[in-house]
Amino acid sequence: MTTNGTNGTASNGNLDGEFGHGIQVIDENKEFTQTMPDYLTATHVLQAGFSYHLISVFGSQSTGKSTLLNHLFNTSFPVMTEARRQQTTKGIWMSLATDPNASQDPEKPHMANNILVMDVEGTDGRERGEDQDFERKSALFALATSEVLIVNIWEHQVGLYQGANMGLLKTVFEVNLQLFQKDKASVHRSLLFFVIRDHIGHTPLENLKNTLLADLNNIWHGLSKPPGLETSTISDFFDFAFTTLPHKLLQPDQFKAETQNLKLRFREETPTNAKYKGDGVLDTNESGVFLPAYHRRIPADGLPHYAGNIWRMITENKDLDLPTQQELLAQYRCDEISTVCVELFDEIVTPFETALNQKIVQENLGPAMKRALDMAISKFTEEAGRYHKGVYKRKLEDLEKKLLARLRVLYVAQLTAAHKNAISIFADTIQKGIKRSGADFATLVTETRATVLVDFIAEAKACSLDNAFTYTDELKAVEKELDEGATRLRGEEMTRLLTRMEKSLRNKFASEDDGVAYLFKTISPTLYPRIWTMFTENVKTQISTFTQKSTALNATAEENEQAVYKLKKRSWRVLRGILDEETKEQSLITRLLGYFDKDFRYDEQGVPRVWKAGEDIEGTFAKSKEGVLKLIPELSTFKLEDGSNPPLLKFIGDTPAGIEEAGPAGEDEDEDEDVTSPSSPKTFTIITPGRITSLTESFNRQADQAFVDAKRG
Ligand code: GDP
Ligand code: MG
Repeated sequence: MTTNGTNGTASNGNLDGEFGHGIQVIDENKEFTQTMPDYLTATHVLQAGFSYHLISVFGSQSTGKSTLLNHLFNTSFPVMTEARRQQTTKGIWMSLATDPNASQDPEKPHMANNILVMDVEGTDGRERGEDQDFERKSALFALATSEVLIVNIWEHQVGLYQGANMGLLKTVFEVNLQLFQKDKASVHRSLLFFVIRDHIGHTPLENLKNTLLADLNNIWHGLSKPPGLETSTISDFFDFAFTTLPHKLLQPDQFKAETQNLKLRFREETPTNAKYKGDGVLDTNESGVFLPAYHRRIPADGLPHYAGNIWRMITENKDLDLPTQQELLAQYRCDEISTVCVELFDEIVTPFETALNQKIVQENLGPAMKRALDMAISKFTEEAGRYHKGVYKRKLEDLEKKLLARLRVLYVAQLTAAHKNAISIFADTIQKGIKRSGADFATLVTETRATVLVDFIAEAKACSLDNAFTYTDELKAVEKELDEGATRLRGEEMTRLLTRMEKSLRNKFASEDDGVAYLFKTISPTLYPRIWTMFTENVKTQISTFTQKSTALNATAEENEQAVYKLKKRSWRVLRGILDEETKEQSLITRLLGYFDKDFRYDEQGVPRVWKAGEDIEGTFAKSKEGVLKLIPELSTFKLEDGSNPPLLKFIGDTPAGIEEAGPAGEDEDEDEDVTSPSSPKTFTIITPGRITSLTESFNRQADQAFVDAKRG
């Protein structure tokens, strides 16, 4: 194919190959192209949003339309040559305009970016006479999509009312009425831009314009108008612009110069001097042609789908309902865009979702959630926001709901893990802290609690998507659990403390230096009173130590009272155990024999007696034995000097609230009979009457043996 580009340099970047001549939007078989998305991608128009324009050209076959377009827009539409005089443009072609001579000076006006030009098959019907239908269909298609329709016409055709061009314009007006019947609310305007070719110059443009306008109005009046549009005028739907061009072959230089001038009217910014008269006619030859009202408001990335659907409706002879088409397009594109947004979202979020089963606090989740959501939503807003507002809003809501639902799952899991973390860090820190000597439990708890809560809140906040999600309930649950944990840990610590105190008391009671064992060295009626004093003093001291420590544990007065009560009871039981040990028959007899020996076998100076004949062995023996035997009943009951039981009940105090005064199997009690209850006969009975008897007998036997030995000696 011969091309006739302005200066032969294709500046469509890498478009020299497949897309060298643009794309055939509709081919000779009336099939709509599949390649438009690729073409728009290759030309970088696809992402242009609304920043693109669509122009179509109409006119009789072989009136130099393709030639004009190639000159104006640096396209490469095939043109007829001397060698090929048959129709060259079949169906509808589309090509992106380029501007190789664009001024680098941004101040100087140049052509708008992203002008898509459609070259529509010549329509004088000579060559497709059998297919008048196509003329109508392509007119409808061009009208539904294009902002500007260039009408290419010979000067000598002007005024030929019955001419082929006027037939075409009649078709355009008719399909326009059909098109906007359904869309009365949002009438799209279009610009009909008449380019009068081979202008000789005898007839001024003004006259040609008036002739054409008169013809156009005539055609309009002659149309039968659908209901509701009976009184409409042509300028309700169209603006008009007119220009002339000299003969390309006869005045090639002027033709070139004037097409270059004409090009500048296809500017992005329509100058403010572009005024339209009341009759919808552009009043200056320099005005820009792209008015916002002409734009069909189809985002570039929706154009292939939209144009394809329009063409399908046209070929199926369905009524074109543009608002419905726009809504359908919006649904289709919003879904497509949504899918892409979800894919972007997935890239960030899926790894976190996969890691959910680990049930751990996921690092950097918050920022990732935010990034994923922001990215998806902002992409959707940017791309889908250009489509039908109602559809867009609904689809945006759907998308947000869907993404938030997924993020919420991550959020809830993160809170749960952070909750778990807070509790275990709290317990760990406190247990470790307790082991460190000198750690103040109350301070430790307060500080650790604050620290883990700060961490929890920070994590919850980070994942809250700027408070879209709340964590108040979870925070309350954490606080509650921490407080319960603190109480439990304090309880455990109190128990440990009690045990330590009890052990320390046991050591004191058992001490050979000042404990029970020491006091037993002097068995006398004051033994138990001395033990009682030793007991109460030690317990009192220990309790004051205990109270200090339990205060440091932040124990409540109630907890402290309960613990002191327990400690007192336990210490009495400990003492009783030691007394039982000390008064076991064998050890007691050893002690009593020691007393007896001291008196019987040693004299006052502690020197062993050597019995001489005549000395009163029997008398001394009886006296010594008597002295010791007197002591045995003294040991049977724990009494004070006045013979009364010690005030144990008073000493232990009343059972504080919160302690179950259980039976023998109770919490703090032995299975055996309680030795701490003052009402129990066992409490103060150290040696039972039966044991007193056997003790006495046993002692007698061993003392008698000593007597026999002495006698022999
Ligand atoms: P199209 O069928 O309308 O696209 O026409 P073409 O661009 O293919 O041109 C058809 C013929 O008209 C070619 O031989 C061109 O050289 C010739 N032609 C192009 N421009 C002009 C012009 O301004 N005046 C005249 N008289 N012929 C032209
Ligand atoms: Mg052509």
